[in-house]
Amino acid sequence: MVVYKCFFCGKQISDKVLKTRFSCPYCGAKVFFKPRKAIKKVKAI
Ligand SMILES: [Zn+2]
Repeated sequence: MVVYKCFFCGKQISDKVLKTRFSCPYCGAKVFFKPRKAIKKVKAI
């Protein structure tokens, strides 16, 4: 499952929701982006 984020209200929306209806169920926007899951950890040692 892929989770997108609404560009306007910032709510997380799964791709299942976007497949049935490509708009934010919260605010109706049609602009989404994919938040990056990989978080880089840097150790300063
Ligand atoms: Zn929204």
